[in-house]
Amino acid sequence: MEWTKGWRDRAWSQLDQVWDVLIVGGGITGAGILRQCVHAGLRVLLVEADDFASGTSSRSSKLVHGGLRYLKNAQIKVTLESVQEREYLLKQGRGLINRLGFLYTCLPSDPMPGWVFGAGLTIYDIMARQWSHRSYDAEDLRELCPPLTVPGLRGGYRYFDANTDDARLVLRLLRESVAGGGLALNYARVERLLRTRAGQVCGAVVRDTSGDIDRQVEVQARVVINATGAWADSLRGQVGEKPRLRPIRGSHLVFSCAHLPLTRAVTFLHPSGGLPVFAVPWEGAVVFGTTDCDHGTDLVTDPAISAAEEEYLLSGLQYVFPSLELTSADVVSTYSGLRPVINTGKADPSKESREHAIWEENGLLTVSGGKLTTFRIMARDALKAVRRHLGRIAFDPETPVLDAIPPAADALFGPAKLTAAQRLRLLARYGIGAATFFSTAGADLESICDVPYLWAELRQAARAEGVVHLDDLLMRRVRLGLLLPEGGMQQMARIRSLVQPELGWDDARWQKELDSYRELWCKSYRFG
Ligand SMILES: Cc1cc2nc3c(=O)[nH]c(=O)nc-3n(C[C@H](O)[C@H](O)[C@H](O)COP(=O)(O)OP(=O)(O)OC[C@H]3O[C@@H](n4cnc5c(N)ncnc54)[C@H](O)[C@@H]3O)c2cc1C
Repeated sequence: MEWTKGWRDRAWSQLDQVWDVLIVGGGITGAGILRQCVHAGLRVLLVEADDFASGTSSRSSKLVHGGLRYLKNAQIKVTLESVQEREYLLKQGRGLINRLGFLYTCLPSDPMPGWVFGAGLTIYDIMARQWSHRSYDAEDLRELCPPLTVPGLRGGYRYFDANTDDARLVLRLLRESVAGGGLALNYARVERLLRTRAGQVCGAVVRDTSGDIDRQVEVQARVVINATGAWADSLRGQVGEKPRLRPIRGSHLVFSCAHLPLTRAVTFLHPSGGLPVFAVPWEGAVVFGTTDCDHGTDLVTDPAISAAEEEYLLSGLQYVFPSLELTSADVVSTYSGLRPVINTGKADPSKESREHAIWEENGLLTVSGGKLTTFRIMARDALKAVRRHLGRIAFDPETPVLDAIPPAADALFGPAKLTAAQRLRLLARYGIGAATFFSTAGADLESICDVPYLWAELRQAARAEGVVHLDDLLMRRVRLGLLLPEGGMQQMARIRSLVQPELGWDDARWQKELDSYRELWCKSYRFG
């Protein structure tokens, strides 16, 4: 069911039936599984307690990568799978997953000699069956990246990985699944699991959390999949299982390119503690992170960066780019996410493995851990487990995970004022739905401030992308909340004129949404 006017009510009226599969959680894990279930011809429903991708899947470092740090921790399997997935996704998701050059800088404070990293890159390239890295001395490195004025720079390496818009990747998977016959509903929380007399999970009580209407439905399903990421232990607890996850918070700072002018990503070992950190060009800005802190048990939807993390991240940048004289005033926004990491009790949270796990407990199938990059592998393993429950299903793991965009599609999109890069970007975001986008975009095909979004994307998101609250629109569909000062407050008059009619909000509702958005932004996305 497409997310057009009135879709939520139509979706709620359909919940009361027996589904083959009920997926709980609308992050990358749930979206990937939904996609594979639809491919397999299953009757499948996904419910998300908050907005799609509002959990960890909109709060990553935006990398589709092998993860050199995992190689260092001898997590060979996860690195190999991730490198292979990166190559696959680069081909499949052109324009949404983009190849990106990285510079690794060897610093005087490094706890290991630079050649160790070079050796890691050799393995990395062998895994991808390519040879793309090379070393540079300090002078050449500075030529490639003039802001690298750290005293005692020892040279470094260039290599390639990829980046993406994490929330949009989730959304593309969901939309294509929905177009293929699946049902995905945000603001629908599983309150309680239903169990047979024998204690096997057979469905769930789902409650509407949109705040618009009070309703709940008992949903029956032959298989229930717990894809709730860092929150997975909560549902597992309902079937009597002990916690197995260790939620680890990671935070980022976002800068405008004017303050942190990077054309390639720069990575280095933080002078305090030696953990790798990344400054990654993203959507016309630069995202810098991340941290690794045990988060404890207070698993809120919108975690916030701590003062210690802010200080740690800023001091790392000040050390490597001293001439930029970066201060807290230059930080446009911050964001934090909770890694769903399987707890093996390691003293250092950074040493915990990023592998995924599947547990079958009293009929509840939990899929957790892993990475954004490896979502397809997690989904494939989940489908194998589903097959054990449902018997033979038409599941071909080789079916492309994203729908192909016809090669001639960009010729459909007339507006000459858009560059080829802009067209590709929009095609990759909307898939085949881009045709509708262009036919309704009207005169709003110009960029919003200095970010690569177009004003017309706001209207499109409000019209057809399942937006329920203002932060869905500004934090995950069109990510102005991260990219513009004060979360985009200065642009709010024009945003309002475009989206209020589409959302059907009266003035009182608009004001309520704006107040909640401002409060959320100050609490979870501001520096200091
Ligand atoms: C700081 C940081 C940086 C990272 N960087 C990268 C990176 O660069 N590359 C990479 O590959 N990976 C990265 N990762 C890892 C990656 O982001 C996560 O592994 C992935 O997003 C987890 O997705 P998920 O769908 O399992 O969980 P989530 O995205 O958290 O989704 C789970 C969803 O379940 C919902 N939910 C919870 N309870 C219920 C309920 N009762 N009913 C209904 N819904 C419920 C939640 O609201 C949530 O939206 C990073 C992680 C962090 C924290």
